[in-house]
Amino acid sequence: MPEGDTLHHAAKRVGAALVGSEILEIETPHPRHRYDRWPERLAGRGVRQVDARGKHLFLRFEGNLTLHSHLRMGGRWSVYRRGQRWTRSSHRAWLVMRTPEHEVVQFDGPVLELMTDSRTRFDLRLAALGPDILADEFDEAQFMRRLREDDPMRGLGDALLDQRILAGIGNVWKSEACFLAGVDPWRRTGELGDGDVLEIVRGARPLMQISAERGGHIVTRYPRDRRSPRSDEDKWVYERTGLPCRHCDTRVRSRGQGDDNRTTYWCPECQA
Ligand SMILES: [Zn+2]
Repeated sequence: MPEGDTLHHAAKRVGAALVGSEILEIETPHPRHRYDRWPERLAGRGVRQVDARGKHLFLRFEGNLTLHSHLRMGGRWSVYRRGQRWTRSSHRAWLVMRTPEHEVVQFDGPVLELMTDSRTRFDLRLAALGPDILADEFDEAQFMRRLREDDPMRGLGDALLDQRILAGIGNVWKSEACFLAGVDPWRRTGELGDGDVLEIVRGARPLMQISAERGGHIVTRYPRDRRSPRSDEDKWVYERTGLPCRHCDTRVRSRGQGDDNRTTYWCPECQA
């Protein structure tokens, strides 16, 4: 599932292809949007800006219209040079935008909506989003306030996934960030001091920024850090159930957490 770093990387690539370029053609091949008349509504409008917030991506067009996208589990934004072969079947394309040099394709939706700029500001789901961990200026105070307003009995790993508290962390970063900070993801948020919680975010943020730069790869340690894991893209605990912890050799554990039962991975020794 794409997390904030993937979306920020996509926003950069899509923005580089569209902003300042003439949009020659827009197609909405998916049946759900076949009659939405987006090509007509967007005709002649340039793209002003492409940005990500948490796991949401926004294409902001001239004239007060914004295309909002959320990839959920399987959606994807791709940028191709004209004539380059697509990496997913054209049947899976929901949106295609052509410039003289590029094709920007949104595959597999599943959330794609055209809205006015003012609606993006007042849309309840978007307004409820917590501060973006990848924002240039991450708002720690707002994050802590939202965490403390939430149920203090909630497990930390579950709370970190809640996009209303903190936008951008998904299932991979939830586990990796807790490991990096040495904090047990099963502890209730009410038992943790502000410093413990902020250490998790401050540790994950620069690595997520590197991942967003690199694109498509989650980087879980600093590239020059020579300690294990071997590759800077090897995960510390994510999907390593039963394998020895890369730091202490204790077996990594995993269990579903929270209302959605999303799997949390942790080292019972390093994160005691
Ligand atoms: Zn360990």
